[in-house]
Amino acid sequence: MALYPIKINETLNGKRLGVDSFTMMNPLNYIQFMITGRGPLSDNFLRAGAFVHSEVNQDPWKRADIQMHTYPYPASLDFGVRFRYLFGFSDEGYRAMYGENNDNADGGFLLPTLLRPKSKGTITLQSSDPMVHPIIDPKYMEDPADIRTMAAGLKYTEKMLASKAFKKRGIQHEPIPQCKEHKTYSQKYYECFCRYYIFTVWHPVGTCKMAPKSDKLAVVDPELRVHGVKNLRVIDASIMPTMVSGNTNAPTIMIGERGVDFILKDHPVQAKKSSSHQEL
Ligand SMILES: Cc1cc2nc3c(=O)[nH]c(=O)nc-3n(C[C@H](O)[C@H](O)[C@H](O)COP(=O)(O)OP(=O)(O)OC[C@H]3O[C@@H](n4cnc5c(N)ncnc54)[C@H](O)[C@@H]3O)c2cc1C
Repeated sequence: MALYPIKINETLNGKRLGVDSFTMMNPLNYIQFMITGRGPLSDNFLRAGAFVHSEVNQDPWKRADIQMHTYPYPASLDFGVRFRYLFGFSDEGYRAMYGENNDNADGGFLLPTLLRPKSKGTITLQSSDPMVHPIIDPKYMEDPADIRTMAAGLKYTEKMLASKAFKKRGIQHEPIPQCKEHKTYSQKYYECFCRYYIFTVWHPVGTCKMAPKSDKLAVVDPELRVHGVKNLRVIDASIMPTMVSGNTNAPTIMIGERGVDFILKDHPVQAKKSSSHQEL
């Protein structure tokens, strides 16, 4: 996901469109939300989303290659106290985006997200001691195709910024200083941008890939059994052989449901005795 900053230069009935920390902490807003379910705290944080076909999309099944979110909160929402760490800003990156004085102007982000990234990370054991952490190297944006697609996703935001609704509120991109040697909105600018403000959305998959035994990276078979090990299944997001075109929680729940079905199929007697699932 790229964090593409926007500034909002107009207000709505005298109030900012995005939310700041004073609004978030104001007890009156809590009371309003508790009683009426309305007000600033009824905001779902990601106000609009879309699945987008970028101009470089060549997917043979015509699936979108970018998921777009909008986020009406600058990372300086709380004047740099905590929020920026959620996004993983370095001190330098944060200062470059929001200035020395924690500029808390109304703004937010447009967030193009790569669907099905081509870069693949690795997990390597450091030791046979299970208490020693493995080395996780996500290798974000290692494949140049990901840079091209993300740059095209960033380019798509031009259409959003040029729309009547965005223009009406004076919403503009705030160029980042790290890429100032490139013309803003040029291909080189977007590619440079991808090297600075990229962020994970915590959807890792594929470390126990479902595939035939002949695949040297295969871990589980189509019924989630670990190849070559008896009575062991893996039932979680790790079995996805490739990334789904979107968020991973719902597909993981589906994998869990299927896993239960496979276990019940293999152990029908025990299931009858112990499962409330059966009784229902
Ligand atoms: C911050 C964040 C935000 C996310 N937002 C979204 C979202 O908006 N939409 C979406 O679709 N997906 C989202 N995801 C992704 C989604 O949560 C995951 O894809 C999904 O939870 C994966 O499920 P899982 O069962 O594979 O792993 P997990 O949900 O991580 O479950 C693993 C379980 O194993 C337990 N465990 C670990 N080690 C041991 C051990 N040694 N012994 C026993 N138990 C152990 C853990 O406590 C945990 O309960 C988000 C993830 C994160 C981290």
